[in-house]
Amino acid sequence: MTRAITHWIGGKPSDSDADRSGSVYDPATGQVSATVAFASESDVDRAVASAREAFPRWRDTSIANRTRVLFRFRELLAARADDVARVITAEHGKVLSDAAGEVQRGLEVVEFACGAGQLLKGGHSENASTGVDVHSLRQPVGVAAIISPFNFPAMVPLWFAPLAIAAGNSVVLKPSEKDPSAAMLLAELWAEAGLPDGVFNVVHGDKVAVDALLTHSDVDAVSFVGSTPIAQYVYRTASEHGKRVQALGGAKNHMVVLPDADLDLAADAAVAGGFGSAGERCMAISAVVAVEPVADALVEKISARMAELRVGDGRRNCDMGPLVTEAHRDKVATYVDAGVAAGASLVVDGRGQDVDGDPGGFWLGPTLFDSVEPSMSIYTDEIFGPVLSVLRADSYEEALALVNANQYGNGTAIFTRDGGAARRYQHEVEVGMVGVNVPVPVPVAYYSFGGWKSSLFGDVHAYGPDGIQFYTRTKVVTSRWHEHVPGSALDLSFPSTT
Ligand code: NAD
Repeated sequence: MTRAITHWIGGKPSDSDADRSGSVYDPATGQVSATVAFASESDVDRAVASAREAFPRWRDTSIANRTRVLFRFRELLAARADDVARVITAEHGKVLSDAAGEVQRGLEVVEFACGAGQLLKGGHSENASTGVDVHSLRQPVGVAAIISPFNFPAMVPLWFAPLAIAAGNSVVLKPSEKDPSAAMLLAELWAEAGLPDGVFNVVHGDKVAVDALLTHSDVDAVSFVGSTPIAQYVYRTASEHGKRVQALGGAKNHMVVLPDADLDLAADAAVAGGFGSAGERCMAISAVVAVEPVADALVEKISARMAELRVGDGRRNCDMGPLVTEAHRDKVATYVDAGVAAGASLVVDGRGQDVDGDPGGFWLGPTLFDSVEPSMSIYTDEIFGPVLSVLRADSYEEALALVNANQYGNGTAIFTRDGGAARRYQHEVEVGMVGVNVPVPVPVAYYSFGGWKSSLFGDVHAYGPDGIQFYTRTKVVTSRWHEHVPGSALDLSFPSTT
């Protein structure tokens, strides 16, 4: 019997009202490991109703008691981190150490949310006008929907849910249908931590579930992470339905290597940033811009390191696992064909590479192109696989212009020994997250994560201070408590500060 993954509504597993479902695969074997229910509109209704019903009590639960739940959740997640990592590897395919890293980055957001008491403070101004005090407060928004992608099945839900919950909201999570089990494990841990039933719900499914959330009158906020076309659609649709929305999209992350860079460090970074998680990271390096005369030496060092990579089953101590589905593997392989046809120089061909894994797995080895031109589809499109392109630039200015002309602006990195050049780059580049000699500059939990341009729709980034801003509404109270003065002091003029 194949395992059946159901929704999680009202603090417990919940069967679907519909009979639609999808298959979940073990990407390292190609075998179906489970089926996942696809929610109908009525399933989404039940989940949102459960969240709505739980909301007032959770909102009115003291910050102290909410924080205690978060601390317990933090302890449980830390204790079960290896279990969560195993679940991720079994459905996503990334190697176990990488899955463990994902859980760790999610845990950091939980730890940040444990500071709810400090984060939710308002401001107070005594005597703003004579005898008049003003204070501001932060209140939860209501029901928050979280729609997450396949590539971080635990970390992306953990970017959002802990802060939404800390702020007093209730949550409906719609994880990717490709690797839905991590979300169910998180739901169990929330329940074990003592989170009241209905504050954290999970519905599985596809566009039907997403559309039902985006248009539901009882959903107040939507946090989305996924590809750019869907992010744009989610932003537009949910905004039209009166919700606040943050929709994080795709990426093409450039790593600029200046002539004075330490080329060994840069080559290590290009290989780690390009092929970690098989390139299925929104912060993966997909384009290396080598500022001449370093390109030949850099390409040689990168390809030498690629020859050392062990590709195989993520449970076998390999460096890189399979891609998430057969269809995605085939799509990425099509880009390799397109790069060859367009005239890029194929330095390392990952097609047909030997792997330490089942022949039925969704394999594609690390692939390197040199002399890539900006017009080629391997450069213009987000491939989201283990395909790294090297472009050659004659100057810093040419490299910068290339990065800034790209439609995406998620992450970028510069490799140099020149602090002045790095400082100039971080100032001039139109990208939301910048690394200086750091290839994958994912901000720590107390900063916020978000790209620019087609990498983010909305104005508020994920987690950190922006996360608190997104999940709260501010209210400003102006009050006067004056001693009783006999007679009337009626005045119809506009209130001014005196
Ligand atoms: P995706 O856009 O296919 O799916 C994301 C979510 O949207 C899933 O839950 C999916 O079920 C849902 N969805 C898919 N098609 C839909 C449709 N037509 N209508 C409504 N909902 C739909 O993305 P993915 O393939 O799961 O994830 C990879 C993408 O996510 C990449 O583009 C990657 O760059 C991006 N990503 C971005 C960030 C970031 O922070 N900017 C982080 C991780 C991933």
